[in-house]
Amino acid sequence: MDCCGNPAFELEEELGHTEGVDWDLVRCTSCGAHALRQWSEYASDRIFHDPLTTEEADGFRRSEGRERILLLKRWYNDH
Ligand SMILES: [Zn+2]
Repeated sequence: MDCCGNPAFELEEELGHTEGVDWDLVRCTSCGAHALRQWSEYASDRIFHDPLTTEEADGFRRSEGRERILLLKRWYNDH
């Protein structure tokens, strides 16, 4: 699921580690769309980018601590 024809993601914020994967908030430098990146150091060939609305990206950015973990767990279960 790509946001545009030439996706190129840059890191905005590292969100942490839960559900066995690392989570980053990233932004596409081609079209400006936000995405949530899931990756694991144990499977570096499996990196997923889920498109985020601006609202969803703001929600992750504003979250802290336990709230952020819960957001990530919910995202993991829903996607
Ligand atoms: Zn894009």
